[in-house]
Amino acid sequence: MAKKQKIQAPTGMHDLLPEDQVFFQKIYNVASNTANFYGYQRIDTPIVEEAELFSKGIGLATDIVEKQMYVFRSKGGDYLALRPEFTAGIVRAYTEHGMFNLPQPVKLYSSGPLFRLERPQADRFRQFHQVNFEVFGEQSSVIDAQMIQIFYNMLRELKIKNPIVEINSIGDNKCRPYYKKLLVNYFRSRESSLCVDCRRRLRYNPLRILDCEEEKCQPVKAQAPQIVDHLCEECKSHFKEVLEFLDEIELPYRLNPYLVRGLDYYTKTVFEIFEESEENQKGNSLVGGGRYDALVKLLGGKDTPACGGALGVERVAKIIREKAKKEVVPPATTKIFLCQLGELAKRRSLKLFEEFRKAKTPVAESFSKDSLKTQLRTADNLGASYALILGQREALEGTIIIRNMASGKQETVKLDKVVKEIEKKLKK
Ligand SMILES: [Zn+2]
Ligand SMILES: [Zn+2]
Repeated sequence: MAKKQKIQAPTGMHDLLPEDQVFFQKIYNVASNTANFYGYQRIDTPIVEEAELFSKGIGLATDIVEKQMYVFRSKGGDYLALRPEFTAGIVRAYTEHGMFNLPQPVKLYSSGPLFRLERPQADRFRQFHQVNFEVFGEQSSVIDAQMIQIFYNMLRELKIKNPIVEINSIGDNKCRPYYKKLLVNYFRSRESSLCVDCRRRLRYNPLRILDCEEEKCQPVKAQAPQIVDHLCEECKSHFKEVLEFLDEIELPYRLNPYLVRGLDYYTKTVFEIFEESEENQKGNSLVGGGRYDALVKLLGGKDTPACGGALGVERVAKIIREKAKKEVVPPATTKIFLCQLGELAKRRSLKLFEEFRKAKTPVAESFSKDSLKTQLRTADNLGASYALILGQREALEGTIIIRNMASGKQETVKLDKVVKEIEKKLKK
């Protein structure tokens, strides 16, 4: 008989346990405060979209569409996909809801799960989360700089010590085709020196050769023509302006001529943000984004310039979690602990607990414990200043004991006065 296996989470997917939630929540709070400050409104699009939206938008020859999409056929016969990124769905919604009729620019932000069928490895999940910002209807370079600034500020606020921005321009429909030709000619003359993947990329997606990390491809890459030398006038001045804005706000950045990002839809500016360690080691990319002036039209909308970026929640959470481990845990803020003994007292305690909640005075409890000794020990461990003790006798008499945890001194007060009494004590 086959060995019975325990059901586990699907490969590459993970549970967000209560101890993870505090870091996720922190990131989401910073994101929503930042969104409010910069005038972004929240949008939630479905987790599932028509598969064609992504193959058209992200590009057929990209890794995401080629290998990493969860595609399935619904009972009605539609080809659907779990969203592998936010932008395509938000572009669809922008057009579908006629948001081009609103005063431009339209600024939208989202957060939530995304799905990619990655090879399982540390820090790469098949279900992962992002915080995503998009601006529609503005072609000015100031938007690109502000997009970078928004993510940079979020990382700083999350206490990421040394965020470093890498930036490049990958041109547009006017200048990129010519550069692509140059690049293909160059790589074709050195095809035997490229890795297997890159030889394939040469036919379908030559730009991607530039961000190949294979040892073998590095010397070939180093001699390749760089797109910044082949930008058209418009792209060149746009890129120059973005860099000038970044200089103006004193935001540190590095030019990276190999940065192309894995998606077809980018035009002009592309950027990524990393954390750099004290040893100047570049970590995983925490944020990625860029301009995509052709995508809205490509997906059937009006010709609308746009720019966006996304922050990887798991990766940032990992960094702040590791930092938190090193920090001294501040003393617990639990001041009051409610102990109960006996059935009647337990019932009264539940009611009393609600009164404290209404008075907005935080109280800890462990209703599931019956021993007074255990409860007082818990109160002590939590660093409570006062324990409230409600026993059988007190419950019958309508009173309760307030115990000063430091001195051990106890006093009995009327049950209906205890919330007020405690408020008085806490104010002192
Ligand atoms: Zn390669
Ligand atoms: Zn151009």
